[in-house]
Amino acid sequence: MTDNIDSSWEDVQGHRYPGYGECIYCGSNGGSDGLRDEHIIPLSLNGDAVIEKASCTICEKSINPADTHLAKSVYWHYRLHTGSKTRNPKGRPDTLTADIEIGGEQTKKEFAAKEFPFSTALPIWGDAGFFRGESIDAPFPETFFHIYHWMPPDIREKLGLSGDEHFKVWSSGRVSAELFARAIAKIAYCHMVVRHGLHGFRRLALPGIILGKSRAAPYFVGGPLHLPPQPLGSKALHMVQHVDLASKAGPLKLYMINVRLFASSAHKEHGMPIYHVIAGAPRRSDG
Ligand SMILES: [Zn+2]
Repeated sequence: MTDNIDSSWEDVQGHRYPGYGECIYCGSNGGSDGLRDEHIIPLSLNGDAVIEKASCTICEKSINPADTHLAKSVYWHYRLHTGSKTRNPKGRPDTLTADIEIGGEQTKKEFAAKEFPFSTALPIWGDAGFFRGESIDAPFPETFFHIYHWMPPDIREKLGLSGDEHFKVWSSGRVSAELFARAIAKIAYCHMVVRHGLHGFRRLALPGIILGKSRAAPYFVGGPLHLPPQPLGSKALHMVQHVDLASKAGPLKLYMINVRLFASSAHKEHGMPIYHVIAGAPRRSDG
């Protein structure tokens, strides 16, 4: 788990990996639609590492809700603020309206998208059920959030506030731990595929979780409740870490992937959360 973070974090950006002639999730050859390139980290989060011809269109549709949840809910305002990539530039608003309370009065104020005060809420629900001794079909525990706020430095001027007037910015939005965990599971699984080869490891329940067919996401995917450690301090946008649990846990042989999105962002003392995924096991013939 997080006591392993001092070892090797990898920058996943900037790579193209050849595919396997089959969908990495269901094994189909894609039929007449063929196979599509699969982004390891969603394009919407500026992910640019790709496994070529790796997903059939049916699996792509099943994965879409989880990727869309990251793009349009969890990181929506963050993306507008940072001007991250989009497949649909015309669908991107130039201005946004904030609900603001000034001196007890509710009001609305329009901001340019880059200047919009926002909060990003990242769900956490504790370690993966596997580590907590849960059963494989146990539901998600109660979900909490790490919340990251951003405001334009001149917001008081923008709101026309006098010296000591108080204000609050209200934010709303719905974040689903389940969709978030599925998106994290996909990143971890893709990393396993490029590292071990599609047939080089036992994939456990991951494809089913990623496609939304298995309810075991909370057993395999964890979002620790403690405060995240410092940002990783590299320039890398997103970082992934492969951990061999076999060396830590005796006869137990499992691979865990840690995923840290926007790894060098947030506050000096506390960066973004580190999620972990029980992402596979060695093939039996490997010992
Ligand atoms: Zn498929």
